[in-house]
Amino acid sequence: MKTAVQFGRRTREFEIIESPIPHILVDSKKELHGWWEGIEPYGNRECTAERLLINPYNGCTHNCFFCYAHALGGYFKTFREENGIVTVFRDFDRIISNQLDKVSVASCGYLSPVTDPFQPINKEYELSEKIIKEFVTRNIPIQFTTKGRIPDDVIRLIKGQEHSFGQVSILTTDEEKRKKLMEGGASTDELFRNIERLADEDVFTVCRVDPVIPHVTDERGELEELVNRAIDSGAKHIIASCMDIPASLKGEIYAKLEECFDISKSKLNRLYTERIRGDFNADLGYRRKLFRTMREICDRAGVTMALCMEFESLGGKNVKGLNREFMSSNNCEGIDVPIYVRRGDRFEPVEGCDGNCLGCYRSEKISVCGLPLNEARAWKLRDYRGWTKEINQKARDKAQRTFREGWF
Ligand code: SF4
Ligand code: SF4
Repeated sequence: MKTAVQFGRRTREFEIIESPIPHILVDSKKELHGWWEGIEPYGNRECTAERLLINPYNGCTHNCFFCYAHALGGYFKTFREENGIVTVFRDFDRIISNQLDKVSVASCGYLSPVTDPFQPINKEYELSEKIIKEFVTRNIPIQFTTKGRIPDDVIRLIKGQEHSFGQVSILTTDEEKRKKLMEGGASTDELFRNIERLADEDVFTVCRVDPVIPHVTDERGELEELVNRAIDSGAKHIIASCMDIPASLKGEIYAKLEECFDISKSKLNRLYTERIRGDFNADLGYRRKLFRTMREICDRAGVTMALCMEFESLGGKNVKGLNREFMSSNNCEGIDVPIYVRRGDRFEPVEGCDGNCLGCYRSEKISVCGLPLNEARAWKLRDYRGWTKEINQKARDKAQRTFREGWF
């Protein structure tokens, strides 16, 4: 059996491999890249630190019904419309390895912004483990976010890299509710166990309550229980968000909320009144109240917190991040991960860098990295390559000067 994937006017055909779950194998030259949006011109960046984003798979069989990736095109559309066919990027670890070999500046890797790196297909290909290995053997930090069980090998690999860390996403403490919100993923107990397993190895661990689902998981008592259980398990930082609804998925998500939780369409319409770009956001008053509650819970429990991609519309395309009101940590992920530069075969952290590029953008101080990262843009691999050329040229110039001074 074959499937056709549409890219604009172009169509490509792939053989469907049925086992262990239906998937296609795709050769790709996809490049590592930074966040999709920079702070300029519309204020649409809340991620304080720079990251190298990596998606070895497209489509995610955890299948959370609210997942924003369902609104994406290309291989994601294939997943959504053709009974969950996952795309696997063949030998993606080798592609990443080649790309890392050609740069002398690296930010922390991020597995994975739009799929779960430890979803079931990963057991077959282990691309996530292989990619993590490529980072840590060069001493470049890497982090992951998951709603699945973290493989033992992953914990073993990252525990030796000083700034690598893990994020475990937990929607609720109520297992029955969790099962209604997502088709796959690890059980609630297993998710808390993930935090314990990371903490036992001294790996910095974040618990993401991401997103809170209005009228389903937003009660103070339930959020308190979740945060406290995460802290007891070893989490050092909490990240929260409120569910957004991509306009193209509105009917579907409303139907699921009605079917599973008996929430009427009119109730949702009364709440989802704010349109920010292509998404419906819950009313700002509701969100502020929710985030105040989260902040109080976290403050009382003695743990830092931040929001993920929560904005206030300023009219038109302009937005303002809400982290300025609610974040209690320096970096939104709760850990300061410096930028790394090459020293021979390995990379080392830049001294004095706290990894908060958005902070450098907002402050007057000169960034210690000496790179334009303080512009907090949507960087591409070619930018990293450009900085690499500059660094190498400076090193050559310095070597020549030293040689001349020694000669004369
Ligand atoms: S685990 Fe994450 S990527 Fe996978 S379906 Fe759920 S929200 Fe989407
Ligand atoms: S010095 Fe500032 S701009 Fe440069 S990498 Fe560090 S945090 Fe980012």
